[in-house]
Amino acid sequence: MSVSQLPLERLDKVENYGHSRHTVAYVYRPNQVAQIEEVFALARRAGLSVALRGAGRSYGDAATNSGQVVLDLQRMNRILNWNPATGVIKVEPGVTIAQIWQHVLEDGYWPPVTSGTMFPTIGGALAHNIHGKNNTKAGTLGEHVLEFTALLPNGEQVTCTPTENSELFYALISTAGLLGVFTSVTLKLKKLHTGLVDVHAWAMTHLGEMMRDLDERKHEFDYIVGWVDTLDHNGRGQIHGANYVHDAPNAAETLRLDKQVLPDTFFGLVPKSTLWMFMTPFMNNVGTRLINTAKYVFSATLEQRKIYRQSLVEFNYLLDYVPNWEKSYGRSGLIQYQTFIPLATATDAYLEMLRLAQRRGMPPFLGVTKRHRPDRFLFTHAVDGYSFAMDFKVTNAARLQKLCEEMSDIALEAGGRFYFAKDSTLTPGRARRYLGEETLAKFQALKAQCDPENLLQSDLYRRLLV
Ligand SMILES: Cc1cc2nc3c(=O)[nH]c(=O)nc-3n(C[C@H](O)[C@H](O)[C@H](O)COP(=O)(O)OP(=O)(O)OC[C@H]3O[C@@H](n4cnc5c(N)ncnc54)[C@H](O)[C@@H]3O)c2cc1C
Repeated sequence: MSVSQLPLERLDKVENYGHSRHTVAYVYRPNQVAQIEEVFALARRAGLSVALRGAGRSYGDAATNSGQVVLDLQRMNRILNWNPATGVIKVEPGVTIAQIWQHVLEDGYWPPVTSGTMFPTIGGALAHNIHGKNNTKAGTLGEHVLEFTALLPNGEQVTCTPTENSELFYALISTAGLLGVFTSVTLKLKKLHTGLVDVHAWAMTHLGEMMRDLDERKHEFDYIVGWVDTLDHNGRGQIHGANYVHDAPNAAETLRLDKQVLPDTFFGLVPKSTLWMFMTPFMNNVGTRLINTAKYVFSATLEQRKIYRQSLVEFNYLLDYVPNWEKSYGRSGLIQYQTFIPLATATDAYLEMLRLAQRRGMPPFLGVTKRHRPDRFLFTHAVDGYSFAMDFKVTNAARLQKLCEEMSDIALEAGGRFYFAKDSTLTPGRARRYLGEETLAKFQALKAQCDPENLLQSDLYRRLLV
């Protein structure tokens, strides 16, 4: 079969989360393993590669495959088994984080690790081995996987645990869907007694101070995260630390789904579905400076040292308050640029990067920093240090690419790492420096074993790894 013989009605638009990449691909949506095998066979006959895709929440090009086949796994979304006595859940790969917490919360459980949005699928989340605001305490999502099954392009179906097929276990988790397809995942969830957290918020006048507090106070909190005013020369900002509430008079009630909702309107007036349109006029240097200043001044005065109680959903899914917020960045979209830098060099490197972006007239409009710990997965992004994620509006793609390359060189000099869930701007040489020769050789050996025809690819794979 040639490319022209694939059915045209399969052609569909496939974008990244930030709407900065617009591609067209042959999209297939299997709902069982046999259909994945059929798509593999079809792609082989057509001479095309296959990219795996979950909910498309990656900011870069990890789940796009221009002109090729995209296997969208969201319809494999059944919860296969749930045991409230042990907190062990088995799900298909297209089950989302939202589906999981909604299924288990009333039994007193919660995902041990969650991203800042509840919409990623478990398959997509494991392919990048996501972390949360509790990384130093809970590690990455992969550390809570008891077992997964996967279909490899070589036709094998494997079962992997940390001790059985452990090389594949630590490689399939983290390598961006390039070695095999997760077909089921068994996870151990976190036991809770209430659906609440106590949140502590305090302002910081300097990025260095913020990083010191994120480190020194990490044991005090179950979750801890810093917001950075990216328009400020010193990277001032605010830290939020949160602890699970273990005891409350109405504990069972707080675990009910109707107590874990995000408000439908803002200030009782603006429907949240339209809020992103109101944000659009502020998505420029002047607008962001205004918003950031207001936010900082508020946090430094009224809110300083404030403690308040929130539901788990309100605390964890701030970004989900505003559906489609990413559209407020306009037609060219946004990219997120996130690096991970060791403790000793992070503060200087991050201040240098921030000030460089400010000097170039392209400051990021959002900055978030977290404290991390290392893990043993093959394409790990983590370090014993910090991450700093910056959201950039794409106005001049070439200038932004150049800026990100300069920042990547600062990060690499400082011993930093990168994250394929977020990356759009690395180059093959820089990716090689980040991953190192040994890791790349191991990946290539596993690729030859699991996927000898090089069927699993993505735009990111062709950009960085071939
Ligand atoms: C608002 C927002 C906040 C975020 N916050 C965080 C955060 O706090 N921490 C964090 O770590 N990440 C965060 N992310 C990133 C996000 O968690 C990851 O990009 C995640 O991988 C998205 O999952 P997905 O289901 O959308 O997968 P996609 O983006 O569709 O795909 C991601 C990768 O998974 C692969 N894949 C998909 N399904 C399978 C499968 N069944 N088997 C094998 N491979 C598969 C794809 O090939 C691709 O490489 C955030 C993203 C957004 C948009």
